Amino acid sequence: MYHCSACGREFLYAKVYFEPRPLGSERLLLCPYCDSMDFHEKKGEYCSYCGRRVPHPGAGYCSDSCRSAGEKLYARQKEQEEKRKNSPLYKAVAEVDRYNLIHGCTLSYGQYYALKGAGML
Ligand SMILES: [Zn+2]
Ligand SMILES: [Zn+2]
Repeated sequence: MYHCSACGREFLYAKVYFEPRPLGSERLLLCPYCDSMDFHEKKGEYCSYCGRRVPHPGAGYCSDSCRSAGEKLYARQKEQEEKRKNSPLYKAVAEVDRYNLIHGCTLSYGQYYALKGAGML
């Protein structure tokens, strides 16, 4: 995410512009809204939760309430990730991936469990 200081808007991708020069052309990155080059990457300087400017670079969050809300959100995401990893389906899929990796083959999940069920693995 980028933030343009000239027009104050935010965008994900800068506009690429090739400025003609006597020898070839120069590649410039511009704000897609106002063509300004006065923009910078939003990283560390904006709140990870609400997107407002943080008091000092690297703070991560703009306020304590955003920090606790953001950390709660993060904890919930982690918890869901853990749950997903512990689900029988995920484990089954991971087992096939591991088998394929170790044996250098590309069995589908169906093939793997058919062979396993038949006692051929
Ligand atoms: Zn702009
Ligand atoms: Zn915030």
